[in-house]
Amino acid sequence: MIASSAHFADEDTPAGAAPKKSLRTGSSAMQASVLALNRNFVPVHIFSSPRAFCLLCKGLAEVVQVDNGHYTSHDFASWLEHSRLKEELGLRDPHEDWIQAVNFEIEVPRVIRLLKYDRVPRNTVKFNRRNVFLRDEHRCQYCARRFSVQRLSLDHVMPRSKGGPDTWENVVCACLTCNVRKGGRTPHEAGMRLLSEPVRPKRNPLVSRQLMLQKYSAWKAFIPAVPDGAF
Ligand SMILES: [Zn+2]
Repeated sequence: MIASSAHFADEDTPAGAAPKKSLRTGSSAMQASVLALNRNFVPVHIFSSPRAFCLLCKGLAEVVQVDNGHYTSHDFASWLEHSRLKEELGLRDPHEDWIQAVNFEIEVPRVIRLLKYDRVPRNTVKFNRRNVFLRDEHRCQYCARRFSVQRLSLDHVMPRSKGGPDTWENVVCACLTCNVRKGGRTPHEAGMRLLSEPVRPKRNPLVSRQLMLQKYSAWKAFIPAVPDGAF
């Protein structure tokens, strides 16, 4: 089986998921995002590309290809053939991501459809560390500098010790230095200013970020232009 030789892997654990496989990384294509639709073509999740391939290989998902307003679907075998033809004819586009397996290359699909999943996502964006960092674009909300995830922390604007809640409106991204400097004080007490008032995002911050990139333009066919929920 081709899929097992490619050692596709998965990362996050979304709904309707398949069991995990072994991991092999090393290519930026492995970091590419794949939009997952439910059976009724409603966007429900974003997968890493290894996870998406894992679902494709197991027959739990199909590729949905968007080309000038036309949709075509592919199972893993026909997507592999599609990739092979594209490669042969020299039709690869610089915006695409390709994964190199042991003896073949395959294009990373932008959109897949989960064939056995028909639930719809919650209409709210999940409040968690990753999404706060994405909302704030990995930028410390006090010194305005951007940092890697390892050098960032979550700061409670109104400190927890003073009853500050874990909410979108009270938690921001802060670098370790600013977080220590602020300590258990309010910004006013610490003489620090927030870059902007923190708010609950209307759309999943990862979706918002990817939609700005041309390589994820295929997502626009399935995601409403005006955000009114998680997607
Ligand atoms: Zn800072």
